[in-house]
Amino acid sequence: MVFRSDQLVVRGIFVAGSGTGVGKTVCTAALLRALRLVGMAAQAVKPVQTGVIPGDGAVLADTAVCDAAVADLPPHDLPTAAMLHCFALPASPHLAAEREGVSLGCDRLCADVRAHCHGSRADFLLLEGAGGVRVPLNQHEDMLDFMARLGLPVLLVGDNCLGGLNHILLSLDALRGRGLFLCGLALVPTADPSAGCPGVDVPALLADNAAVLRCRLQQEGWNAPLVEVPRVPALNAAAWQRLAEVFAPLAHRMVSGAGESRSEQQKLLPRDRRVLWHPYASVTEPPPLHVAERTFSNRIRLADGRDLVDGMSSWWAAVHGYNHPRLLAALREQAGRMPHVMFGGLTHEPAVCLAERLLALMPAGLERIFFADSGSVAVEIALKMALQYQHAQGEKRRTRFLAPLGGYHGDTFGAMSVCDPITGMHSLFSGMLPRQIFVERPSCRFDHPFDPGSLDAVRTVLRERREEIAAVILEPVVQGAGGMWFYHPGYVRELSRLCRETGVLLILDEIATGFGRTGKMFAAFWADVQPDILCCGKALTGGMLTLAATACTERVANGICSEGGVFMHGPTYMANALACAVAGASLDILEKEDWCGRVATLEQGLRGGLAACANLPGVRDVRVLGGIGVVEMSEPVNTASLQKFFVSRGVWLRPFQRLVYLMPPYITPASDVERLCKAVHDAVLSGAHLP
Ligand SMILES: *Cc1c(COP(=O)(O)O)cnc(C)c1O
Repeated sequence: MVFRSDQLVVRGIFVAGSGTGVGKTVCTAALLRALRLVGMAAQAVKPVQTGVIPGDGAVLADTAVCDAAVADLPPHDLPTAAMLHCFALPASPHLAAEREGVSLGCDRLCADVRAHCHGSRADFLLLEGAGGVRVPLNQHEDMLDFMARLGLPVLLVGDNCLGGLNHILLSLDALRGRGLFLCGLALVPTADPSAGCPGVDVPALLADNAAVLRCRLQQEGWNAPLVEVPRVPALNAAAWQRLAEVFAPLAHRMVSGAGESRSEQQKLLPRDRRVLWHPYASVTEPPPLHVAERTFSNRIRLADGRDLVDGMSSWWAAVHGYNHPRLLAALREQAGRMPHVMFGGLTHEPAVCLAERLLALMPAGLERIFFADSGSVAVEIALKMALQYQHAQGEKRRTRFLAPLGGYHGDTFGAMSVCDPITGMHSLFSGMLPRQIFVERPSCRFDHPFDPGSLDAVRTVLRERREEIAAVILEPVVQGAGGMWFYHPGYVRELSRLCRETGVLLILDEIATGFGRTGKMFAAFWADVQPDILCCGKALTGGMLTLAATACTERVANGICSEGGVFMHGPTYMANALACAVAGASLDILEKEDWCGRVATLEQGLRGGLAACANLPGVRDVRVLGGIGVVEMSEPVNTASLQKFFVSRGVWLRPFQRLVYLMPPYITPASDVERLCKAVHDAVLSGAHLP
């Protein structure tokens, strides 16, 4: 088995500073001594060091500090310190590296740290940053990005001087904003106690800083100790011993793994088993489960430290990958201003802007938006709109919906009633579900010439039962959860014409297909149709928060509201400001980051990567459209064993029924698309799909 760096786990902490020259190296060396005193093979590692000429032994001052800290301990064959990248210019890493023509970045630094950790005999690394937490590594990444990527607990070192509090508190905010775990805050006395104005008791001021920090750590819920580093006259053996004693409690916490987020996370599985449901799952025979700890880009990190390449976009949603900085920024900004207010009688900018922008992106004719909190609710709203509209038109008998077989529209009662009756398991709820009208699945493949005969059945039903049908609901071009089926846009076009002819409304469910996934912003554009009602959701917030929207034409809206009518729906969290703000940011990313080009590249990668699956035994069909790749098997697959195989290969895919399918984030690098496809190919080749 090939070992990939993203499968290697680093044990250690990150030592970060609230600024430069605050005493990080001394703290690191003192902690190193404390750890070695309790028998740990600890090593200080500086991923980036500036102001150092490589190979010039005399200048490696930080190494000398670490060596001095443990000089009187029994010799250890593990070097005390290692530098991964050294640059001569004593400046910020981005500048120092650029001067030497080196491109530094989180990807590379993480891989280097993991390789170093794996190659050395160290069992605990003290990774020391350079400067403060927002020190740039390159044009678009900071030390903080690197820290978030590593995800290790952080020891923040700040200097106890006048003005130091501000930097420390801002650094704590920055760590919190990245979901980093604080394992300790070290306060180093850098100020000269004899300095200051006459009559000012500087030591008292500095002592008060410590008191304030202790109070803040508690108020802000940081479960981390404050380490008050004593002032030592000179860094001699006695001083190192004294410093190590101050850090000893912290070292003990590290040895025992107490407060280490990773071990806490691993205890989650049994707790989950006791109290939670998972989607479409049994609680008595629970399916396999993994603990996800953090995400970034197109990766999901499990609690055991392994990174998985995401091939699912968390069910169509995370199209920009995870933790996209623009989405995070929008979320934080809106959370700081106004997370939510009721939408009855109040409105706000995030909702108004988002509605305007959505309508501009949707097919012409749609002119009004109703915000809902999930896709299923957006479908309920669409169905209610159609019923209320027909009712207001005097068409009181039009109370049914027509849907093709193989559709999926959500799990609430109304939505369930229009799902495929077999895969939607209507039999379980037969007495409760409204009985709808179904026609055969659109049979003409997307990539075959259009066959008008594929509409014969639906044409007959629509014409014969027009008086009882309020609307047709379907997923245009791609049926998702009902079978990952791609059918001809001509079907949607012709159906739209038939709807018009028979006075039936057309509802397009674009909850899965919206926002570029099929290669068009909305799948309706493949067919060039103008629906009466359109639902979107899933990728609307780029996978960050739950939000969905139902759009309708002015004709439908005015119809419902004619003669004093109102539309009878109003969720508590309607138009949640946080979700609307994040959705707005997600649209910004779509606009600015060439989603169209990215989906086209993804399509090419999936096509190339999955082609080899077509000839494997047990494979019935391989199809690709936009950012969706499907390998359809002839028999239902063994989801549990496939998932195990995929996780062992470092990819996250979740097959169901006869389908092994991929819909990776648009930002997925070509090499990862290849890796996903190869994993699917090898899984089928090795028979991992078999019962
Ligand atoms: C996922 C989905 C829904 C339901 O959305 P939820 O947010 O899960 O309620 C409805 N329709 C389609 C086409 C979907 O893919």
